Amino acid sequence: MRIGRIFGIEITVHVTWLFVFALVAWSLYSDLGPFRHVEGSNAERIALAVLTALLFFASVLIHELAHSLVARRQGIPVRGITLFIFGGVSQFEEEAQTAPVAAWVSAIGPLTSLALAALFYGLGALAGLRSAVGTAFGYLAFANLLLAIFNFIPAYPLDGGRVLQALVWRATGDKYRATQSAVTIGRIFAWLMIALGITETLVGGVTGGLWLTFIGWFLLQAGAAEGMQAEVKRALGGHTVGELATAGTPIAADATAEQALQTMLRSGNRALPVMLGDSLLGMVTLDDIGKVPPEELARTYVTAIMTRADDLTTVAPETPAIEAMHVLAKGGLEQLPVVGAGGNLVGFLTQESVLRWVSAQRHLQSLRVAR
Ligand SMILES: [Zn+2]
Repeated sequence: MRIGRIFGIEITVHVTWLFVFALVAWSLYSDLGPFRHVEGSNAERIALAVLTALLFFASVLIHELAHSLVARRQGIPVRGITLFIFGGVSQFEEEAQTAPVAAWVSAIGPLTSLALAALFYGLGALAGLRSAVGTAFGYLAFANLLLAIFNFIPAYPLDGGRVLQALVWRATGDKYRATQSAVTIGRIFAWLMIALGITETLVGGVTGGLWLTFIGWFLLQAGAAEGMQAEVKRALGGHTVGELATAGTPIAADATAEQALQTMLRSGNRALPVMLGDSLLGMVTLDDIGKVPPEELARTYVTAIMTRADDLTTVAPETPAIEAMHVLAKGGLEQLPVVGAGGNLVGFLTQESVLRWVSAQRHLQSLRVAR
């Protein structure tokens, strides 16, 4: 759900975030919340709780904006900010080129939260920490302080873990090794959080412990994904698309949609190149076939429903493999036809085929080490 742009950065809110917002507002309002001693009508307490929750979520957004704005100033294109159940994520189109830039982009988030904590504490002190407004500011100061401390935990991919990765990168000059050690350390912290969360759930209250367990689990997943990504990147380094392209299952230009469907079902491919001799005319996908009424399938030619070669995103065989992976991911494409200078089809690049290639390389590597 897009909610708008700030400084030209697109902000997206995931539905889970609305749920957390309601939960925060409700817990602020409840008899256990910070406003339990605040005098005033019920309506005033609800208004105060909602306003405070809004300011808290604005704080999370400002934390992410700090990451994004610093990244943009350092020349890293920002794709957008997504807010979801565990907070926010800033998405960048590229990675930082140097360790100091990476460290700075990551550190600015928790530093911003720390500054916000100080600001809210100051406002609270001005309003009087025992007053209703002062209590709200006091709560916001505390929440931002927690946010800063939590994000400084060196559990990759938390901000602190990214700073750690940048420091190791700086010290060793090896970005891949730095990422892998940050992932390993992050995994230890994630398991610690899970263990602590479970203990807390068993011993004391349910909510806090459960939350910690979930965050630990989320960090495990996110860390593993980033570690995998780093490995794929390293494996692909120096290789071209031409080396990775897989054959695909071509279909002739005079084939019908029915024949294409049968070929897809037999081969397990959801997209087929439509060929005239050696040259690629276009691509026909399962989605294209789905738009044809069933009784028309045998009478419809693939050339009538395919996407023409001119309209396809294609890559040249000389393209670096990493660059092509970006094109795949950015366009949300299932596959990328690899087309030579003469318009001849070299093959296809799919996310799957790349992962298979990487895993084959890894297997080969492990055999060589074992020998
Ligand atoms: Zn952050």
